[in-house]
Amino acid sequence: MSNSIYKVPLPKNEKVLSYKNGSNEKKLVLFEYKKMLNEKVEIPIFIGKNKIFTGNTEKMSPPHDHNHTLGVYHKCNSSHVKDAINSCLKAKKKWSKMPWYSRASIFLKAAELIAGPYRAKINASTMLAQSKTAHQAEIDSACELIDFLRFNVYYMQQIYSNQPESSSGVWNKLEYRPLEGFVYAITPFNFTAIAGNLPSCVAMMGNVVIWKPSDYQVFSAKIIIDVFKEAGLPNGVINVIFGDPEMITNSIIKSKDLSGIHYTGSTEVFKSIWRKIGQNIDIYKSYPRIVGETGGKDFIIAHQSANKEALVSGIIRGAFEFQGQKCSAASRIYIPKSISKTVLNLLKKEIKTLKMGSPESFNNFITSVIHKKAFERIKKTIEKIKKDKDAEIIIGGNCNSSKGYFIEPTIVLTTNPKYFTMEKELFGPLATVYIFDDKDWDSTLKLVDDTSIYALTGAIYSQNRYILEKSMSKLKNCAGNFYINDKPTGAVVGQQPFGGARASGTNDKAGSSYNLIRWTSPRLIKETFVPEENYRYPFLE
Ligand code: NAD
Repeated sequence: MSNSIYKVPLPKNEKVLSYKNGSNEKKLVLFEYKKMLNEKVEIPIFIGKNKIFTGNTEKMSPPHDHNHTLGVYHKCNSSHVKDAINSCLKAKKKWSKMPWYSRASIFLKAAELIAGPYRAKINASTMLAQSKTAHQAEIDSACELIDFLRFNVYYMQQIYSNQPESSSGVWNKLEYRPLEGFVYAITPFNFTAIAGNLPSCVAMMGNVVIWKPSDYQVFSAKIIIDVFKEAGLPNGVINVIFGDPEMITNSIIKSKDLSGIHYTGSTEVFKSIWRKIGQNIDIYKSYPRIVGETGGKDFIIAHQSANKEALVSGIIRGAFEFQGQKCSAASRIYIPKSISKTVLNLLKKEIKTLKMGSPESFNNFITSVIHKKAFERIKKTIEKIKKDKDAEIIIGGNCNSSKGYFIEPTIVLTTNPKYFTMEKELFGPLATVYIFDDKDWDSTLKLVDDTSIYALTGAIYSQNRYILEKSMSKLKNCAGNFYINDKPTGAVVGQQPFGGARASGTNDKAGSSYNLIRWTSPRLIKETFVPEENYRYPFLE
């Protein structure tokens, strides 16, 4: 162990590559895409040093071509879950003593591997597994994951440097211990970066982890596993298991050594996990830390002073990029009557230019939704809207699942500000517009605040500073990430720490020190150099 006080490199956001015609990155990613498309992979579970092919397999397919097979992954049973817990606890003995700068080196190396030799692979696998366009894959699986790794290392050092004051004759020190036991990381399908971040930022702080990726992201999760292995992460620090989420979670939650949950996904699942932890509270050695980022019903509200072109661009990018399958996607939009006609006409004109199809073809802006269940859910919603009296579909509304799960970007217009599509997270390319009277600005702000249970992201478009100032204050608690004259999606690590409150999560801000601090249990050490030898205080004499 070295005596030096090292400084980690100052992190910078990874540059987003353009993927324009003729670019090297376009050639490389298409090469990997075609290679992966024509191979058949077999992905085991990873427990300690073992790769286990359990024989209980599930097929993986690109959502935009669901009859094609990319390969299979192996699913675990409850005895594998126990093995994964034991593997964590065994690895913990050495890992928790590894100096922080060596842990930092592993994750900084992982960032460089993704930025370099693995970039095309991780992007191609995300295009195939989650049907992201090359641009959406680049900003997620390459840039955001690289940023998470680099910035978290930097934040880890900041946390460790944070030390208390000491009075004369005393030295107070804070030691940042990993949590006792192990942490369970559960990740969603929609961001490869979140999948990589949730287990890695916990492990970075000296903890051991069981990671359960979404069934619909296993194909790209495998590249993350390869990167961590190549970066030198010791066996057993992050154990990766796939399979029935409920069985896995129920088995893990019964362990007395569970010290934390790092979750991102839907609100209902998070609540069910929290409930189960509550029911088991007497069995744990420590209170498990529960960190969860969950659903959203993200809004855009425009004032009559809004720049209409910027508003339309914000709606299109905010609602339809990655088919609206971002937790931050704009899905309820409030437009004042005076500008509504111009805005809706412009929206219709622009949405007509959006091309839909496979991400392999680079002129497609829209690809497919993630799976059959999502497709059916949104299709059913559209059918219901078509029958309802207080809403109509004014743009899009067609669905086709013959080859892939394709749904047109759809705009619903409602006369009912509490219509179910204004309240419920639908997680697809569907946004609802409500037109309000310009004079009802204040009551519309109230509507924005109390229409949904969520409070993740929101945006306001206005050129009037008085309006912005007043509205920001009225909308204080309805978004954890608030945007002025910008779309509510696309948070960048190190710039816009991300997370929401109310039913949207614990707001521990992924990609910031607020999150990392949850994965350490500080010990305060007070040392008195010349201790008092007489118990009597002067006032006693
Ligand atoms: P999901 O809830 O279906 O799955 C999330 C994870 O939970 C997966 O790993 C899944 O296998 C697991 N899971 C499912 N059922 C479970 C159960 N009964 N017990 C334990 N685990 C279970 O979500 P998804 O479709 O993968 O992702 C979309 C959701 O995630 C949306 O609601 C979205 O808003 C949310 N999300 C939120 C953020 C954020 O930062 N707030 C970011 C990304 C996604």
